[in-house]
Amino acid sequence: MKSCYDVVIIGAGPAGIAAATALQKKGVTDILLLDRENEAGGVPRHCQHPTFGALVYKRPMKGHVFSEKILEACRNIDVITRATVVAIHQDGFLDISTPQGFKTIQGHRVILATGARETPRHPRCISGLRPLGVLTVGALQQFVYLTKQRPCNQPVIIGTDLVSFSALWTLRNAGIKCVAMIEENHRVTAYRPSEIFAKLLGVKIHKSTRLESIHGLERVEAITVKDKNNDLTTIACDAVIFSGEFVGENTLIKNSHLAYTPDTGCPIVDQYGRCSDNIYYAAGNMTHPADMGDQCYLEGLKIGQAVADSFLIDSIPTENKVMVHHGENIRFTVPSCFTLENTKHVDLNIRVSKAISGTIQICADDVVIHEKRGSFLPHRKISIKNVNLSHLDKMTQEIQIKIV
Ligand SMILES: Cc1cc2nc3c(=O)[nH]c(=O)nc-3n(C[C@H](O)[C@H](O)[C@H](O)COP(=O)(O)OP(=O)(O)OC[C@H]3O[C@@H](n4cnc5c(N)ncnc54)[C@H](O)[C@@H]3O)c2cc1C
Repeated sequence: MKSCYDVVIIGAGPAGIAAATALQKKGVTDILLLDRENEAGGVPRHCQHPTFGALVYKRPMKGHVFSEKILEACRNIDVITRATVVAIHQDGFLDISTPQGFKTIQGHRVILATGARETPRHPRCISGLRPLGVLTVGALQQFVYLTKQRPCNQPVIIGTDLVSFSALWTLRNAGIKCVAMIEENHRVTAYRPSEIFAKLLGVKIHKSTRLESIHGLERVEAITVKDKNNDLTTIACDAVIFSGEFVGENTLIKNSHLAYTPDTGCPIVDQYGRCSDNIYYAAGNMTHPADMGDQCYLEGLKIGQAVADSFLIDSIPTENKVMVHHGENIRFTVPSCFTLENTKHVDLNIRVSKAISGTIQICADDVVIHEKRGSFLPHRKISIKNVNLSHLDKMTQEIQIKIV
């Protein structure tokens, strides 16, 4: 490892790999790609089912095949694994812990692509004892695909977002029958056809139902759920798999000089992925927990291009950042600020905090500049394309996003 690189990328998942690929294509080759895991590839490496590749390669492929394929495109780049970045500082200095010891290196640009993680049981405040058999989808996938273990025989899945169906697929591949899926909302969070997959596997989805408590002393024996009529039902099972409620892997951000949104911990980024310190950029699920692998890859390509452009003087404006403020029931918006100069149209990635129907309004100086009507679900990507910012006054300070 050298002591200085043009670009250091933290996280070798789809977003980080894509950024490296785009940089290389634009002629920036002095790049270091770091990952704390034993191998590069990120989450898809743990997903050996065909839910990747549809957007990037126009055909579905298993996660580990997708990882290998995207890594091929940047095989000339330095990749160092088992290297955990433990702190980030001004001027692009990074402290890294490696099996060979502690190192500090510098990047003229640094891309944060550290991904997202699921909320485990403890912060969800579910009552009951602490028996064995309570796990996240990530843990399930590591058991099944990486260590070839069978962690349970009769699990329930809490949640119906896309990753919950990723868990269902993992269980199916391991020959494990899922007993039930539990969903608080009146419909599944993932796209409706996912329900067909559950049906084909004979898995009942309990909608408008909440997990109340987990039973079992040594090992999970059952759960109690409450439906919309407040009726309680006990379901026998030997594992509870929590999915969803993703949070960005942003510990580095929270302990750094970079500005972030207090409720999500996600860094404040503009449409180029640029953080409050112009040396730092962020890409992938750490800024919007949690989108699909292909989406993160495509975004990583764009951010890699923006970083390559940033080496060309004046190619990316740095002043006049307009903050995005959002109202009630909106959990986050990415970008969280915009640089108006040289910008005509922008895309937004929004998440709501509860199931809600209405109109998302994007306003500048109290004038509506874009609207989208619909029914919106939490944990599901809301994509707003081509918001026209070209008429905005140069003095605009703030863009407001609300649901009416
Ligand atoms: C359990 C689970 C299942 C999923 N299933 C699917 C699916 O079936 N299909 C789909 O399309 N999407 C799925 N996703 C979404 C998935 O996160 C994205 O597909 C994609 O992996 C996101 O890419 P990323 O590069 O942003 O993050 P990641 O793939 O998470 O990569 C981030 C990388 O950063 C590394 N890292 C983090 N912190 C540090 C640090 N401090 N120092 C060094 N390295 C660090 C991590 O080790 C990791 O390799 C799933 C997500 C989860 C959590």
